[in-house]
Amino acid sequence: MAGPRGGYSARMGTPEITLERGDITTAEVDAVVNAANSGLLGGGGVDGAIHRRGGPAILEACRELRRTSLPDGLPTGQAVATTAGDLPARWVIHTVGPVHAKNEDRSELLASAYRESLRVADELGARTVAFPAVSAGVYGWPLGDAARIAVTTVRTTDSAVREARFVLFSDEVYDAFARAVASSG
Ligand code: ADP
Repeated sequence: MAGPRGGYSARMGTPEITLERGDITTAEVDAVVNAANSGLLGGGGVDGAIHRRGGPAILEACRELRRTSLPDGLPTGQAVATTAGDLPARWVIHTVGPVHAKNEDRSELLASAYRESLRVADELGARTVAFPAVSAGVYGWPLGDAARIAVTTVRTTDSAVREARFVLFSDEVYDAFARAVASSG
């Protein structure tokens, strides 16, 4: 069957989840997911690390998106791809997770950030994708909830991505994801 880019569409399934403790900017994968903010023009945490290590080509591509298709920025729960610049990956998929709110259930938006990232990965033809713990830093999600939503969403999303590799920056975050993987069967 012809795929969207004239190639052959790969078999859909659900990605295999792997966990790694480390720095996502060194991940050798097709696409690295960035926990960006709506402005897309850089920030702290993993966003800052990706722009520092990936060089100015990523910021230039983000500026171009703001000039063209995303003048108001990227809405929460959506995803968009750019070059990966000097990173070992081919693409960066920028997504915006929700800020955690005590009095409102925003889990659907966090799930959407993962689902949309996988959808964009499929459009690109990416087969290996590295994810950080979206919304688990400055955006304030309790680690257990952030990990559970990440793991259950990726496990239940139809995609041609073979490997979803969570690259986790501290033992605490890694342990939360390991527990989520163990308890989601
Ligand atoms: P958010 O604003 O979505 O909460 P943050 O960047 O503040 O995003 O944090 C998301 C997660 O990314 C946190 O667990 C943080 O420790 C982690 N992180 C920060 N730098 C890196 C990195 N270089 N590689 C992987 N994860 C990182």
